[in-house]
Amino acid sequence: MAKKLARRKSATKTTRSTGRAAKPLRRPAKASKYVYFFGNGKADGNREMKDLLGGKGSGLAEMTNAGLPVPPGFTISTEACTLYYQAGRNVPAAVDAQMIENLRKLERAAGARLGDVGNPLLVSVRSGAKFSMPGMMDTILNLGLNDDTVEGMKRRTSNGRFAYDSYRRFIQMYGSVVLEISKETFEKVFESVKEARGVHLDTELDEAALRDVVKRYKDVVRTKAGRAFPQDPLDQLRGARDAVFRSWNNARAIEYRRIYEIPDSIGTAVNVQMMVFGNTGDRSATGVGFTRNPATGAKEFYGEFLVNAQGEDVVAGIRTPQPITELEKVMPGAYRELRQITARLEKNYKDVQDFEFTIQDDRLFMLQTRNGKRTGYAAVMIATDLVAEKLITPREAVLQVDPESVSQLLAPVFEPKAWNALDVATRGLPASPGAASGQAVFTADHAVEWTRQGKKVVLVRKETVPDDIHGMFVAQGVLTATGGMTSHAAVVGRQMGKPSVVGAGALEISESGRTVIVGGKTVSEGDYISFDGLTGEVKLGQVATKPSEILQVVAGEMKKAESDVYQRFERLLSWADKFRQLGIRANADQPDQAETAYAFGARGIGLCRTEHMFFGEGRIPIVQRMILAENEADRRKALDELLPLQRADFHGVFKAMHGTPVTIRTIDPPLHEFLPRREDLMVEIATMEAKGVSGKELDEKRRVLRRVEQLHEFNPMLGHRGVRLGITYPEITEMQTRAIIEAACELAKEGTKVVPEIMIPLVGLVKELRDQKAVVDRVASEVMKEQGVRVKYLVGTMIEVPRGALTADEIATEAEFFSFGTNDLTQLAFGFSRDDIGKFLGSYQDKKILDKDPFATIDTVGVGQLVTIGVEKGRGARPDLKIGICGEHGGDPSSIHFFAKAGLDYVSASPYRIPVARLAAAQAALQVKVGD
Ligand code: PEP
Ligand code: MG
Repeated sequence: MAKKLARRKSATKTTRSTGRAAKPLRRPAKASKYVYFFGNGKADGNREMKDLLGGKGSGLAEMTNAGLPVPPGFTISTEACTLYYQAGRNVPAAVDAQMIENLRKLERAAGARLGDVGNPLLVSVRSGAKFSMPGMMDTILNLGLNDDTVEGMKRRTSNGRFAYDSYRRFIQMYGSVVLEISKETFEKVFESVKEARGVHLDTELDEAALRDVVKRYKDVVRTKAGRAFPQDPLDQLRGARDAVFRSWNNARAIEYRRIYEIPDSIGTAVNVQMMVFGNTGDRSATGVGFTRNPATGAKEFYGEFLVNAQGEDVVAGIRTPQPITELEKVMPGAYRELRQITARLEKNYKDVQDFEFTIQDDRLFMLQTRNGKRTGYAAVMIATDLVAEKLITPREAVLQVDPESVSQLLAPVFEPKAWNALDVATRGLPASPGAASGQAVFTADHAVEWTRQGKKVVLVRKETVPDDIHGMFVAQGVLTATGGMTSHAAVVGRQMGKPSVVGAGALEISESGRTVIVGGKTVSEGDYISFDGLTGEVKLGQVATKPSEILQVVAGEMKKAESDVYQRFERLLSWADKFRQLGIRANADQPDQAETAYAFGARGIGLCRTEHMFFGEGRIPIVQRMILAENEADRRKALDELLPLQRADFHGVFKAMHGTPVTIRTIDPPLHEFLPRREDLMVEIATMEAKGVSGKELDEKRRVLRRVEQLHEFNPMLGHRGVRLGITYPEITEMQTRAIIEAACELAKEGTKVVPEIMIPLVGLVKELRDQKAVVDRVASEVMKEQGVRVKYLVGTMIEVPRGALTADEIATEAEFFSFGTNDLTQLAFGFSRDDIGKFLGSYQDKKILDKDPFATIDTVGVGQLVTIGVEKGRGARPDLKIGICGEHGGDPSSIHFFAKAGLDYVSASPYRIPVARLAAAQAALQVKVGD
């Protein structure tokens, strides 16, 4: 039974929302501009144009305008992407014409022409949506090379090896991205050439070998694609552009958007930019970095680079790069310039910058800048540091931090004793903090499968690729053998707040054999492995975890002064409190939960589910007696036993909330949830009969079975629950009212003022509420007379039945407050069972019938309308009506934005969501969403 209630709650699981909401499709303006140029110190766009140019395009424009060394290029807008899909995956002629026009402009700026054998222009073609989606979409480099221009390149650079290396990379990328030939086909050919030449490293192949690779690659294209590799650079460009648009809808990009709630409608921009080369030799390099550490938030220049390489080599995690500080030794001039530029960018954007650069023959070029993704831990560190450095104001800090970040700070850490008892098996790079312990799995699919079976897994991979995203999402943590701090596993792990250790080179992973050997020990699939994402240490075995520092402070086990992270967390949230208008309450049923909620900043209880109190030790048998009673007298006897227990609970909850309002709901769920399952009883009875057991015990079992059968309902969620219970058994409402008012009187005598708010659930008819209110008022006045104390109390109702919302004006004549029960309201508005939506939600999302789980994020269009109607009608009848929301949506940032707009007085969330709700409520009040 307990499970059943838990299930009812868990159907409303929270999501890792980023608080982003879908926007309607933009309509193209009349004389539309689809292509935006940047180059020669001037750009058509700027940083404000992320919607149209994507994050990358707007960053390139901004850097160009700031006079930074950015190779020239142009951005084809997201609007063009939308048109491409609207036209059945065809690029409109106007877009194509503007692209050609801008290409000519680019050729003039670059002093080179696409396809010109004497002086060929090469370009990169990259995706770039408004929200960064690392590695999810496609990129093509070295475009413009063909059998003739490669020779031109060779002549211009006097470097045949470089020219043919670039050409083979281009054919491979173009072949896999545009012509959709598997990467492995090319890799096999490449490996066979290396083998034939007896070399291990790509860099050991000379020009002749690379010419051979090119020839073989072209054969691959001819056989697999059924046509020759395109030689016309303009054909190449159009093919690449269309492939980038197409990649917006590849499976992994769709999955990524689903996880991060990025609207499918916004599309990607395409950036076409003059190539600069990090692979011309030892005076060239390519790298990525952050102006501060994105894992810990520490103020340190952070990143990595590879000498003689192209950009994708760093991010793909194929070669383990060098830390960026080493660049100072190798190329001091370029390093100094990079530091100056990135410091300027951080000041300009007032946020940590994540940048990409290339050094070509000692000359630095900036290829990208954007606000860096960071762990929740780093987000809080960075925001509080930036305020201390006076770079941003507290208001800006509140807007900068994604509300989900603060919940990451509550994640557990290892139990030090258990952790120290194990030897360090190996160390990797600490890419994303947090304690991870689970059974090793070696593929993303297994991670999902095992998690479905209720197991906790750690995903162990040589390196992760964007296709692994579903496995990373469900795993406790991600561990890789290769890659640096900006490899895919690191970037995505940080963003998900998933503990990650990457580049643990000592791991010998056999993905097909499903084993990893480390320090001579073999770990097979299913064996436990644990690691610490803050230190990079990996250990073999299972390790218990313990609460984070913040939870330790909240529990009084650590002093505030000893915890830097707690102090920053509190500082940020106290800034948030200054801006928010919504009150924050908690859904808590026990005194200890109430204490935690209060410590997290809840100032009131929005929902105390009294039936949860019945699950306390030794209470179930009494509750069962109450339900099984065949008459009122027997029922009252059981209720008399429950009375002191409930009174003590209420006393505890009131006390924990220090005089702030406490809303207590009368009993709500169907009674049979407290009884044994019918099938179990039948089996027990049959077994007893088979064994020849008879007598009192068997008779009692049979009686219970009879009653369970009587209580059986076809649709319990629509059955005998909520206010309907109080109407049929008023003695339950009487007992609960007595317990509440007696506890309040006791506290009043002790000198603590409490104003209980007694809430009647599932009301759809004003007469239901009137009936129960009469019971409450009668018992309350009896108790106050007996106690000789007067306490103020309110009687209100939940609005969770659509009819309740639609007749809120009538209901408000009786109700002194409303609280929207958006769990039931969603269930009843959609007709989706809270318990069963899991069976079809996936298909609904796959088919784009629903974007989000409506039990996690409020459906503003439908259910939201019921809320708005309820507020308007309720306040129309009773202008001072206090209105809150206590469904699971009360802890969801984007839902909180909606509730703020709807004019609610408070949201109520589970204790651990309180910090998230405080921050989201402040952002809602400031009317700006993070990421917008
Ligand atoms: C609700 O329906 O939103 C609610 C808070 O009540 P419960 O989840 O207990 O049904
Ligand atoms: Mg409900």
